[in-house]
Amino acid sequence: MSKLAKRMEHISESITLATSAKSKKLIAQGIDIIGLGVGEPDFQTADTIKVAAIEAIQNGRASYYTPTAGLPTLRDAVRERTLLDTGLVYSDAEVIVTDGAKNALYNLFQAILNPKDEVLVLAPFWVSYTEQVKLAEGTPVLVNGRPEKDYKITVSELEEKRTNQTKALILNSPSNPTGMIYTREELLEIGNWAVKHKILIISDEIYGKLIYNGHEFISIATLSDEIKRQTILINGVSKTYAMTGWRIGYALGDRDIIKGMIDVASHSTSNPTAASQYAAIEALNGNQEIVETMRLAFEERLNIAYPLLAAIPGFEVIKPQGAFYLFPNVKKAATACGFDSVDAFVDGILEEAHVAVVQGSGFGAKDNFRISYAADLETLKTGIARIHQYVLKKM
Ligand code: PLP
Repeated sequence: MSKLAKRMEHISESITLATSAKSKKLIAQGIDIIGLGVGEPDFQTADTIKVAAIEAIQNGRASYYTPTAGLPTLRDAVRERTLLDTGLVYSDAEVIVTDGAKNALYNLFQAILNPKDEVLVLAPFWVSYTEQVKLAEGTPVLVNGRPEKDYKITVSELEEKRTNQTKALILNSPSNPTGMIYTREELLEIGNWAVKHKILIISDEIYGKLIYNGHEFISIATLSDEIKRQTILINGVSKTYAMTGWRIGYALGDRDIIKGMIDVASHSTSNPTAASQYAAIEALNGNQEIVETMRLAFEERLNIAYPLLAAIPGFEVIKPQGAFYLFPNVKKAATACGFDSVDAFVDGILEEAHVAVVQGSGFGAKDNFRISYAADLETLKTGIARIHQYVLKKM
């Protein structure tokens, strides 16, 4: 009998975490690697947030299990922040706090999918969507975005992939990895189509606060009551408050689905770490200036990094509107440098130019790579300069 379950044959390790492990190994060997592969802010969590957790630990409040759905004060803070940011009102039964947004999505797929249920995944996509759908024994169905359309999907493209088995679609705007944001009109079309066909909209809004150069972020759930009823919002504190290590995310939406997610959590994680929950209350309720300070820093980096990257021969780059990634199509450069795939080119960049980026294949875009600008300006500029010199040398 095989050691592993059959479903593990189709599950791959998170490519972003694998890249990070690979570059850490080279760093441990004393090699000066510039890491532009990671998906986490390089900033520290604010002191006010850290203090809230420390106090909860010291006065003993963090020593115990919390309710599975999260501390009532944190659920209130989530609802209040969502109201302030979007105008959307949710009741207490419509909220769950989870161990990061990743765990919110995991619980959601476990709660809603039957074997063979199909989930439309808009590609390029964040690496975990497809694997989580498969772990829940559902079938991810890719809908491929094209660079000439800023990698955004239209309703007719969704309609082409719709079947009787289509249960949900995952929308991630601003997108990881493309940084593109759907407009109000585009969202309204998608929302109305999903309502008409009773398809659940999973709206991953984790980068909703990281928007640059005057672009606007709209939460699809704000567009009509029908769309709101059919949408599960996914969000968290990781990216907005530089809190990736604390592992706090949340979901809002239909109370039966949220109840299902709570039941899944009650048999798996029990509750998110109590001290982290106290920290998240401070993050959501406290002074929001820290968010704007980080946003401005990311915007400056994007505006400096974008032209530098676009100037590399064979790189085709669309300027992102949000999140903290650039996603160049580097097929021409890879070929000109003698590589038969972008995956091999990315390995070459790591091993010879000593810069870690992530191959696009894991995001459903084999001609691209993802470079993160969650790094200080000097590091970012040096990293891009190394890639540029490497390409010129190899061509
Ligand atoms: N959704 C997207 C699009 C992401 O990029 C990430 C993290 O990289 C997550 C969700 C998960 O975030 P976390 O689990 O840290 O809250």
